[in-house]
Amino acid sequence: MVRFTVLASGSKGNSTVITGGNTRVLVDAGLSCKELFCRMELAGEKPESLDAIIISHEHTDHVNGVSVTARKLGIPVYFTEGTHRAWARIVTPRKRMTYSQWLEQCRQQAADRLARAQAEGVPDAVELFAEPISEGMVTAVDQEAFAPEPPSTEATPVESKEAAPEDDPAWLPKVEYFKPGEPFKIGDIAVSPFTIPHDAADPTGFVFEAEGMRMAVATDLGYIPPNVKAQLAGVDVLLLESNHDLEMLRDGPYPWQVKQRVLSRVGHLSNDATAAYLENDYDGGAAWIVLAHISESNNLPELARVAAERALRGRGTLLANRLLLASQNEPLSSICF
Ligand SMILES: [Zn+2]
Ligand SMILES: [Zn+2]
Repeated sequence: MVRFTVLASGSKGNSTVITGGNTRVLVDAGLSCKELFCRMELAGEKPESLDAIIISHEHTDHVNGVSVTARKLGIPVYFTEGTHRAWARIVTPRKRMTYSQWLEQCRQQAADRLARAQAEGVPDAVELFAEPISEGMVTAVDQEAFAPEPPSTEATPVESKEAAPEDDPAWLPKVEYFKPGEPFKIGDIAVSPFTIPHDAADPTGFVFEAEGMRMAVATDLGYIPPNVKAQLAGVDVLLLESNHDLEMLRDGPYPWQVKQRVLSRVGHLSNDATAAYLENDYDGGAAWIVLAHISESNNLPELARVAAERALRGRGTLLANRLLLASQNEPLSSICF
């Protein structure tokens, strides 16, 4: 059986579980691990049976619970390399230190690694773990990157090297890279990632396919370019953002710059933009359409629904184009095939 379960959708957290064959994938982990597990249980999905997490982009509402969840379950996280790097930069606290402080830190870490290796009885521990760095290994040019001596308030941030897993906020049990435009498989689920226009490092949407069913997840995009339209053709489940009502956003509480960002070509789809797609470009073939990432400040579920219904012009039937609205606060009941 194939199951598509939206656990949460909106600017406070996005997450969907897709089950196909013997594989269960979490798409984005935008809630805390605790909340994710709680919502999975509510939706009848067992958290411990998740096989992987796949991340669309590094914004907090898509990654908030990723480390804790991946660590707790010991499962891999799939990112594009650009998204992984951006995420790691965001979660790694920047350290201000001088060159000699950095060298001292490297030596200390080497000593700790050696002590751990010796305690675990690793043969050749001394050769393998002792003193991997010496002053001569860092060039004068490298040294310029550090704060001047004696320590001053001016310094270049340095990311810690090889921190122990428990100390490194960017540590994950396993990281797998994918590339937009290059389909791959996670167990029984085929994944086609595609680039979307959004103000993140390397944002992607996805089409998942299992047991002959195709399910698209496309939120966080400023407009729908041709490559995205092509990907959304022929899907059985279309989860598409309907983020804001233009008037509510214009008159709403956001600062002017944020309004500009949301409205831009790398922001979010308005109800009107989503409706225009449904009216003019959508092939009408999905069993379910899920309106997602509905803003709590700049939209009302009813406005999103009415715009989409009007655009579908009676194409909604008992079997096709059934409309659902994803919620921020509770899971949607699973769509099953
Ligand atoms: Zn988002
Ligand atoms: Zn985003």
